[in-house]
Amino acid sequence: MEREQILKTLSHVGALITGSHVVYTSERHGTDYVDKDRVGTDPIVLSMVAAAVASEVKSLGVEMVVSPALGAITLGENVAYHLSALTGISVKFVIAEKEAIAIPDPEGLGRKCFYHSGNFSLRPNDPSFIKDKCVLEMEDILTTGASAKRVVELIRRYNPAKTHVAALVNRGKVSLADVGTPDSFFSLISLDLPSYTEAECANRGPCAARIPINTLVGKGKDFLARKSARA
Ligand SMILES: [Zn+2]
Repeated sequence: MEREQILKTLSHVGALITGSHVVYTSERHGTDYVDKDRVGTDPIVLSMVAAAVASEVKSLGVEMVVSPALGAITLGENVAYHLSALTGISVKFVIAEKEAIAIPDPEGLGRKCFYHSGNFSLRPNDPSFIKDKCVLEMEDILTTGASAKRVVELIRRYNPAKTHVAALVNRGKVSLADVGTPDSFFSLISLDLPSYTEAECANRGPCAARIPINTLVGKGKDFLARKSARA
């Protein structure tokens, strides 16, 4: 699939928003947004983009795909399926799950409370899936690469033969080093989304063009609440 076709496909399921007025997690403003949650909403579209990824990485000899919960699970499983079909290797799939550590209920109300350590663990937790295998970590959308790097570190603890990383969209100029220097790193598409500080936006961004803030994605709702509290 060509780049333009992939972008069109992502727009079709609402995963790629353009010409809007979005407030990012960084609090900067911009016109475009990639909505991770929408990538897997259409199984046919998901399968098409997974096939495009599989076709790009088929020569790596991947035997195992790992994806972090929750967003990238359906994508990773689909990539494993298409890799099996393309290469004849029976490619397996496991989830990298965010580690939740049980802690005492701080208010003593007898509730079950958990703390997310930021680390990942394998599900199922079976080292034989990874040991001496050629492993591909499949990500959906990379912004900083920090979470992908933690999954690479997890995979390496199980002594794989090779660790590769692939992503559907690289939207933050994420580099090989940012994701933990795997044996290879590939993104189906790279997007350079321009962003503005609040002051710049008021001067020459979508604030200046009086485009209403998008409250459905990003931090738009919080931004409007803060703005009305300031007024
Ligand atoms: Zn703005």
